[in-house]
Amino acid sequence: MGYRSVEETRSISLHDPLTGLANRRSMVIHLEKRFEEARRYEGKLSLIMLDIDHFKKYNDTHGHVAGDKMLAKVANVLQREIRSADLLFRYGGEEFLAILPHTDMTMACEAAERLRMAVESDVGVTISLGVASCRETIEDKESLVSLADDALYRAKQKGRNRVEGAFDNARVCNCCAGI
Ligand code: GH3
Ligand code: MG
Ligand code: MG
Repeated sequence: MGYRSVEETRSISLHDPLTGLANRRSMVIHLEKRFEEARRYEGKLSLIMLDIDHFKKYNDTHGHVAGDKMLAKVANVLQREIRSADLLFRYGGEEFLAILPHTDMTMACEAAERLRMAVESDVGVTISLGVASCRETIEDKESLVSLADDALYRAKQKGRNRVEGAFDNARVCNCCAGI
């Protein structure tokens, strides 16, 4: 047994062993970069925050080991469906966050809907998703995460297995309304 190399240690600290995805620590680093970039060049940037529906019940019914497997399966489908330019992270327990550079609200909602459909058809659980996009009134990256989180909360409240977009004035865009 030797010591771990610096690279190995770095990789371990930035990844989640269960899903193989980058973790929240990694997300903070990437989001900082992307947010500053979007700011400086007035570029587009969107986030998708998503959470598995009724996952406690799944664990209670099938056991924690099956729950772990399901979590890895969902991560797999998300990673498969996401565009290569986008970044996917395990944000917390059964929550994931995607960073979509150069992507506006309409495109991000479309991407979120694609993720929702893929999980619904390929896995035995559903997900709820909240989408937020950068705009001048957003002061910092934490506010953007918070907007995505609020939108996710609304998606849960409205019945789950759906996409909700965050808006300053609570307008609903066509793609999020399912029109
Ligand atoms: P909601 O639709 O509102 O999201 O309901 P929920 O049951 O998914 O939400 P809640 O926050 O009540 O429960 C989250 C569950 O996710 C509880 C916890 O046991 C499970 N969970 C979180 N992380 C893991 C994990 O790493 N492995 C397993 N097996 N379960 C996990
Ligand atoms: Mg959940
Ligand atoms: Mg949760």
